[in-house]
Amino acid sequence: MNSMILNSCKNNGIKLINTLTLESCINKLLINQFHNAKSNKEIPSATPNTLNLNVNNPNLKIENSNDSDIKNIDILINPQQQANIQTPQVDLKLNLNVTKHKKPGIIFDIDGVLVKGKNVLPETLKTLKLLNTLHIPYMFLTNGGGKTEKKKAQELSQRFQVPIREEQVVLGHSPMRTISDEIKNKLVLVIGPDSCKEVAKSYGFKKPILSKEIISWRPSIWPFEDQQLLDCPYDLDNEQFGAVLMFNDSNTWGQDIQIACDILRSQNGKLGTQQIPYEKQAVPCYFAAADLLWSNDFPLSRFGQGAFKMAFTKLFKELTEKDIDIIQFGKPEKKTYDFTKELLEKFSKNCLNEEISNIYAVGDNPSVDVLGANNYGWHSILVRTGVFKTGENDKNYPAKTVVNNVLDSVKFILSQENLLNENEN
Ligand SMILES: [Mg+2]
Repeated sequence: MNSMILNSCKNNGIKLINTLTLESCINKLLINQFHNAKSNKEIPSATPNTLNLNVNNPNLKIENSNDSDIKNIDILINPQQQANIQTPQVDLKLNLNVTKHKKPGIIFDIDGVLVKGKNVLPETLKTLKLLNTLHIPYMFLTNGGGKTEKKKAQELSQRFQVPIREEQVVLGHSPMRTISDEIKNKLVLVIGPDSCKEVAKSYGFKKPILSKEIISWRPSIWPFEDQQLLDCPYDLDNEQFGAVLMFNDSNTWGQDIQIACDILRSQNGKLGTQQIPYEKQAVPCYFAAADLLWSNDFPLSRFGQGAFKMAFTKLFKELTEKDIDIIQFGKPEKKTYDFTKELLEKFSKNCLNEEISNIYAVGDNPSVDVLGANNYGWHSILVRTGVFKTGENDKNYPAKTVVNNVLDSVKFILSQENLLNENEN
């Protein structure tokens, strides 16, 4: 067992037992040193300025470490300090330079980068664990949705085996939080699975309603008796709609398009009325994403919200001879990047006490992830594990950097930010 580690543990009040990991021991030492440095306490003389963490004994373990400690690690402690941190699967020589106060921020797409369908990609766990250990702020940005950010964060935490907070998750519909209170107090049509109604409520919408509830109000609005309806919670004879919100993929296109067109062509959002002749859209219409296709386990790609949008806008134009005005969220829309950037900065400051240097966006889809990041001025990194698979770079939407997988993307970022000790690598 390495005597320097043993001495450091002893001087930091850490009792060694054989139940926890070497990595936790290293983390604990670094936390203690950081806190000592921050509170200007004298660092125990036996604690070396250079911690040699590259010990070969994987059985060195400590007591009373838990995952919440990992959030508190700060490795920027002593001048000229350098350390080799060996996580169980990633061997990196890190440059722990105290003058570097800012950290890179990383935005990950999920499908094709971290997971593929039901499978977590092999590099994902070690990559995220490494970022948590290094206190580097990261977020997940996906056009998917249909659930709250909190629920998604819980799911991701379980799948990726690292603590993930809801503040780190941006879904296609997340920016709908920013819609005005005036609209939030009115009735809004929510298109998507039933669960989207709860999501809308969590964003502050007071009266979200699904098409299957509206049909109960007056069944002749969609005269096909082939589904389980839900009771209509409002008296629609005396209510006005404030917006149409496309939250997530619909499995009831026909009734959703019919009712959405009815609302948009109505007089002041009152369902059952009609503007004759049609002059202007009665209420605003928001879309969470515009992906034409998405892929699942079926060999061919499936229609996404973009396909729904095409059918919807075409039918609306046939009815009114005017274009529908849609406020579009999701990648690659600027509004979604503005929203994500603000959240990343808040998360980094409030939860990690870190300032951001540069932002990197890691994705697998050139026309969505790369295009969005490039337009926004973030450093785009394209991986070869999803939509883009082979070749030097995408021809239409070339990324700034192309790597094989997500772990390589983080190694590139660490190197770009001078967080890797190049001399030793
Ligand atoms: Mg993807």
